[in-house]
Amino acid sequence: MSNPTTFYPPQRTLMGPGPSDVSPRILQAMARPTIGHLDPLFIDMMDESKQLLQYAFQTENALTMPISAPGSAGMEACFVNLVEPGDKVIVCQNGVFGGRMKENVERCGATAVMVMDDWGKPVDPEKVEAALQAHPDAKILAFVHAETSTGTRSDARTLSELAHQHDCLVIVDAVTSLAGCELRVDDWGIDAIYSGTQKCLSCVPGISPVSFGERAVHAIQQRQHPVQSWFLDMNLIMGYWGGGNKRAYHHTAPVNTLYALHEALLMLQEEGLETSWARHAHNHQALKAGLEAMGMRFVVDEEWRLPQLNLVTVPEGVDEAAVRSQLLHDYDLEIGAGLGALAGKVWRIGLMGHASNEKNVLNCVGALEAVLTRLEAPIERGVAVQAAQTVFAG
Ligand code: PLP
Repeated sequence: MSNPTTFYPPQRTLMGPGPSDVSPRILQAMARPTIGHLDPLFIDMMDESKQLLQYAFQTENALTMPISAPGSAGMEACFVNLVEPGDKVIVCQNGVFGGRMKENVERCGATAVMVMDDWGKPVDPEKVEAALQAHPDAKILAFVHAETSTGTRSDARTLSELAHQHDCLVIVDAVTSLAGCELRVDDWGIDAIYSGTQKCLSCVPGISPVSFGERAVHAIQQRQHPVQSWFLDMNLIMGYWGGGNKRAYHHTAPVNTLYALHEALLMLQEEGLETSWARHAHNHQALKAGLEAMGMRFVVDEEWRLPQLNLVTVPEGVDEAAVRSQLLHDYDLEIGAGLGALAGKVWRIGLMGHASNEKNVLNCVGALEAVLTRLEAPIERGVAVQAAQTVFAG
């Protein structure tokens, strides 16, 4: 075994499905002195973070806060608090993460009724309507707003409306959507939602913002069984994160990571949420122009594409893993592989948060063209960077 020494990671450009590049301003915030998690100044910062999160989610939900663990824990927090043994939950699956929701439902002792759509397609509201009609005893509808495994957006507003017409609560996965594309928790009537810090907030991984509306809080209060997870029981967590000065110890908060989240949310507020959505959309257009000029095709229909996660086909006969490996080693650039049925056939190119900028678009398009040229791939040469530049110039 080698002699362990301090780990110095290389400076990569992260353009995969997450984590995305973290702004230096956020990393600096994280390096500030650790203070106690019950220190009055820390508590003031927590209150600000809750307020900033309400802005990011576009909600007035009082129960809006970060869970001290990654996105999967936010997912689990929503399910373990809202689902009880014997419940029926309609789960939409059009990629990896709907499958993880199903696991959560079943581990709560409930039944998951699956509404399946092809990978790369949005959740079909007609299928959801049919499932809601066929299962009038369903308590919850759960779906992923931005499916990271396929770069596909689903219509969260329509799906939430449908659920409410059938007296169901809605759980939404917004891990990849928050700050990257339009998301309005209150206007769309979303009852429970979770996200992650490592995507379009450009913060370090490891925290999961969540928000619960009044109907969801009421359902939690009416539970017949205690929440089976001690750590994720919202009733207990609120003793620490709840309003006012009466904060009680629940777990030791990840103090410095929460500095990072506070700074990330502050940056989002400074930029403006809608400006952030527009920036993601604009940079996506430039990346698309460059990739399409080379001859690559997008997998998802234009209307449902996520600007923050671009799924494009690998050119004929190209070893996609070799391309990713050369991009990483020669250009310090990370892009993502396809998953499941799409493995080997697509790349997932992220333009998330701080990483969604002109420099990254031009670097990515240029580096990809260089590597593909070296591998003698069947692409159009010498046009990609200019095509992307044209979008920026326009
Ligand atoms: N949901 C979606 C849509 C995701 O993309 C991810 C992670 O990529 C998760 C949930 C899980 O988040 P984490 O990996 O932070 O636990």
